[in-house]
Amino acid sequence: MIAEILSIGDELLIGQTINTNASWIGQEMSKMGARVIRVSTISDDKNEIIHSLQNLNQETNCLIITGGLGPTKDDITKHTLCDFFKTELEIHEPTLKKIQAFFAARNRPMLESNNQQAALPKDCTILNNNYGTASGMWFEKNNVIIISLPGVPYEMKGIMTEEVFPRLKSKFNLKSIYHKTALTQGIGESFLAEKIKDWENNVREEGFGLAYLPSPGMVKLRITSYNGQVDETKINGYFQELKNIIPEALWGFEQETLPEVIGKLLTKKCMTLGTVESCTGGLLANTIVSNSGASHYFTGGLVTYSNDQKHQLANVSVDSILNHGAVSEEVAIEMANGAKERLGVDLCIATTGIAGPNGGSEDKPVGLVWIAIAFKDKRIGRKFQFGDNRERNMQMTVLSALNWLRFELENL
Ligand code: ATP
Repeated sequence: MIAEILSIGDELLIGQTINTNASWIGQEMSKMGARVIRVSTISDDKNEIIHSLQNLNQETNCLIITGGLGPTKDDITKHTLCDFFKTELEIHEPTLKKIQAFFAARNRPMLESNNQQAALPKDCTILNNNYGTASGMWFEKNNVIIISLPGVPYEMKGIMTEEVFPRLKSKFNLKSIYHKTALTQGIGESFLAEKIKDWENNVREEGFGLAYLPSPGMVKLRITSYNGQVDETKINGYFQELKNIIPEALWGFEQETLPEVIGKLLTKKCMTLGTVESCTGGLLANTIVSNSGASHYFTGGLVTYSNDQKHQLANVSVDSILNHGAVSEEVAIEMANGAKERLGVDLCIATTGIAGPNGGSEDKPVGLVWIAIAFKDKRIGRKFQFGDNRERNMQMTVLSALNWLRFELENL
């Protein structure tokens, strides 16, 4: 089943109200097995509503409209739907009784505008609203279903759950959709697409959907099965193949977080972790302890922002700072090594870089970051070049450090 969502309301267009209705309906419809192909938002205007109704996608089986039904909006949607379907309003007795009971129970007088809420189009199925006075409406024309619901989120959700989903399910014999999402870090969307194109072609040829969902520093890859959970094992198999193609980038699934994944690995390996930070100023340690239970493996961190503190606390040699600069592979490695000894941990991770927006030079531009890891007898440093936004550079440093640490832990 192919669906569209139409949200009506000036308050949505000016950003005063966030369109949570469309996202909730989209999520629930897709779980139920419908494919939502368009979400539109328009003003409380008759011409706009008519235009939207006349321009549905040819494949669309069902349009869900929210908003503009209550007394405050002059029932604009209801009147427009009546015109569009060439029908008229009549008092719907069961609805009128329900509205009267609603007001009587609250000991409130009924206004004429409340009476008018019982005036509903003749040629539609009335959808009962157990949470307010504006009923929903279900029209059918040329094999397209048009459903109109109030904009108040809890009323809309109530009618969708109690009236709309059961009818749609039985009418379309829907199979539920199953999604699984892999989480990657450190590789941009286009590079990733290039690297996994054969795998992606294979997944698509087998009839699965694949979506790239990028956010700063991360790309989520979501596989969709239109057959429901029966395909779970097959999807897990695809992700196992993907893990072999991009082991450094793929770090987790679904709602997992990097601090959580690292916590599990350190616990499993009975290892302790420490940090020593310059450009991230404690953000790395803060992110690690965001995972509850971090005290089992995280013993502490040093913030060595000045050269003097790098020397005093992490035992970085003055010569290294003078010869290579504070932002260098040598200093990053010495920081990790020195802090590992000082904190008495199995594993220590160091960050040093130019967060910006000032302080860059030609050979060391803003966004240059060195991260180093010291564990067992290994000391390794890695260079990263991020952008010119200070906050983003710090976040990218933390994500990159944690993901690299995760990769090393998996291979220990
Ligand atoms: P009423 O006129 O009785 O308030 P209605 O069905 O006409 O009901 P609207 O007036 O459009 O609905 O909206 C009622 C309330 O619901 C408002 O507070 C509005 O901001 C909120 N609302 C409307 N549409 C949405 C939406 N798409 N997402 C979230 N909230 C919404």
